[in-house]
Amino acid sequence: MNIQDLIRPTIKALKPYSSARDEFQGVTDNMVFLDANENPFENGVNRYPDPHQSKLKAILSEIKGVSAKNILLGNGSDEVLDLIYRAFCEPNEDNVVILPPTYGMYEVLANLNAIAIKKLNLDEAFEPKVEAILNSADAHSKLLFICSPNNPSGNSFTTGAIEKMVSNFKGIVVIDEAYIDFSTEKSWLTRLNEFPNLIISQTLSKAYAMAGIRLGICYASEEIITVLNTIKPPYNINELTQKKAIELLSIKDLASNQIVDILKEREAMVAELKSVRYISKIYPSDANFVLVKVDDANKRYNQLIEKGIVIRNRTTQPGCENTLRLTIGTSKENKILIDTLKSI
Ligand SMILES: *Cc1c(COP(=O)(O)O)cnc(C)c1O
Repeated sequence: MNIQDLIRPTIKALKPYSSARDEFQGVTDNMVFLDANENPFENGVNRYPDPHQSKLKAILSEIKGVSAKNILLGNGSDEVLDLIYRAFCEPNEDNVVILPPTYGMYEVLANLNAIAIKKLNLDEAFEPKVEAILNSADAHSKLLFICSPNNPSGNSFTTGAIEKMVSNFKGIVVIDEAYIDFSTEKSWLTRLNEFPNLIISQTLSKAYAMAGIRLGICYASEEIITVLNTIKPPYNINELTQKKAIELLSIKDLASNQIVDILKEREAMVAELKSVRYISKIYPSDANFVLVKVDDANKRYNQLIEKGIVIRNRTTQPGCENTLRLTIGTSKENKILIDTLKSI
């Protein structure tokens, strides 16, 4: 597969903005910086941030076992996904394949970028219909989004199904691994080098407890990362975000201990949900949330709101009639939810 053939001609011809700090990189101590029209008075944020996020990428590279050259950072996964659309999808010409019920941003970004959408719904067990998905693709199908573990169903797709899609889809396959750190399945990061058309998207918003700093991580071949780097806003990751990510990622075992806690809480929650009389189904979860089927999702959702508990009503999503998505919180929060579910 030739990745260059998938890139939009406009993007291939683009000359990126060259920032002051791009043109000069040999930073050493005690240098005088009068190149970027910054205010010289120190307050911790008066200087532009590192446009290449070298220190942060080095830490992520170490944690994830992927070279920094294969990493691009975004202002949340949302920016990463938007950059992917803009690199590969020609407005009013190309299309993308998505597998509902799934994360809503794939569709929003397609609409925003004037890209058509082919929707291939998951089956009743929320598994992808691989043959139908591959058959639906045409010469203009540039992206296939695979969310695994999937939001809102919570399950991971089988390795075989994903492998078949990545190997046979003639465009870019994006595996969204927002919930991979909660999963019993392995990340596809270890197989990045096998598939030139593979992009893996992760985030610090879930397992790493940093939704507030907005940091999305994109892993791909150097060829793809180079293209995305050309079109990203030069200073897309601000100084505060870089600092906080470096600080929290450097605390040994912080995330892994919280993940263990959350998974324990999920097991306890599932056990309790079994005795809620109007819950007829608890879907298997490989993530930090559980999807349940109830008698009347709108009614139960509103009853919970009245009690001050906000969950996600997914009843309008394909295959999700009368389902609610429950995020796993602290043991105290989970107890409040369970007690309330049992009392209404
Ligand atoms: C939460 C979530 C994200 C995270 O998005 P950010 O913009 O990084 O916060 C990405 N993909 C899926 C499927 C999600 O559920």
